[in-house]
Amino acid sequence: MDLLVVGSGFFGLTIAERAADAGRKVTVIDRRPHIGGNAYSAPEPETGIEVHQYGAHLFHTSNPTVWEYVNRFTTFTNYVHRVYTTHKGIVYPMPVNLGTINQFFQSAYTPDQARALVKQQAGEFDVKTAANFEEKGIALVGRPLFEAFFRDYTAKQWQTDSRKLSGDIVSRLPVRYTYDNRYFNDTWEGLPTDGYTAWIERMADHPNIEVKLGVDFFDESQPLTKKAVVGQVPVVYTGPVDRYFDYTEGALSWRTLDFEQEVLGTSDFQGTPVMNYPDLDVPYTRIHEFKHFHPERKELFEQDRTVIMREFSRFANRDDEPYYPVNTDTDRAGLLAYRELAKGEQDVHFGGRLGTYQYLDMHMAIGSALSMWRNDLTDLHG
Ligand code: UDP
Repeated sequence: MDLLVVGSGFFGLTIAERAADAGRKVTVIDRRPHIGGNAYSAPEPETGIEVHQYGAHLFHTSNPTVWEYVNRFTTFTNYVHRVYTTHKGIVYPMPVNLGTINQFFQSAYTPDQARALVKQQAGEFDVKTAANFEEKGIALVGRPLFEAFFRDYTAKQWQTDSRKLSGDIVSRLPVRYTYDNRYFNDTWEGLPTDGYTAWIERMADHPNIEVKLGVDFFDESQPLTKKAVVGQVPVVYTGPVDRYFDYTEGALSWRTLDFEQEVLGTSDFQGTPVMNYPDLDVPYTRIHEFKHFHPERKELFEQDRTVIMREFSRFANRDDEPYYPVNTDTDRAGLLAYRELAKGEQDVHFGGRLGTYQYLDMHMAIGSALSMWRNDLTDLHG
């Protein structure tokens, strides 16, 4: 073995694939019984509808290197992500665009009029100087829209004072003064034609890659443990960084998700893939209806059944799957301490959402793995 990769999500598999292609023997271990991390999907057995097992994953990127790379393993459908949100019993398009604004204010503002209104409703807050989620959110859409669509959704999603959350979280969403309600601004977007699992399996399908599932890096009853391997073989570690150091600098806070999945006896439950619920009287944040992610799979629409998944958010305990880094000031201080510790580890490279405690999208995880391969793992190049 020339390289051990801990974790078989997109970051780990990108490194494994590049190293295998360069002629290196790579072992990938994952604690779970399947590869792909949270991007893993599987057909729901009764209906055959592909369900993203850890919540909806939408691929999008503007990075030509990443786009070229991912297209080696899968083609993409022409799916374009659009989200709607139900506030006080009325459905609005998200992200906030001219349609949302005009519907909310029962008006017919032009782009300039809407811009002026939002500026006035943003009061003292300005996007350039906003210090946190709340200030940035109000600066971006004004107070009434922030309170309707962001404040309570964010309270459910993060359970953290929005003045302690980063403004970067709210600027994931575009705000548009046109009627364009695409969720993402990226150049390329789509879903893997044969599903996420087929894509992920193709990345791992190389004679130089051995994948071992159900293997925990910290379980000392198995041979590929941290104690045995570090210092002997280069390691790319994509698990939680605090777990690696046994939480010596404190546990970093994460949000996890719970899903309530149901097969319903109707052909169409909500007419769209994702409906958000920004009000506090609904306990979940959104409902996914998976058949709508693949309108091209026409045969799946010929049944009077559909699969929906309600998404609930809460703080993660140590045994839960971490999904979203909360990233408060305390977390950032902890992260800096872990980064210092990481420098002392011999030939261990930390990557991915968990390994770096960053809110990375799939394309970002793949992009950062490609740059780690190019810049930091040069000893392994052919
Ligand atoms: N958000 C919100 N209302 C919405 C959608 C998003 O308040 O209807 C906020 C919320 O804080 C969320 C963040 O914007 O965590 C980022 O949203 P995104 O859809 O990118 O989250 P993800 O899909 O990664 O869960």
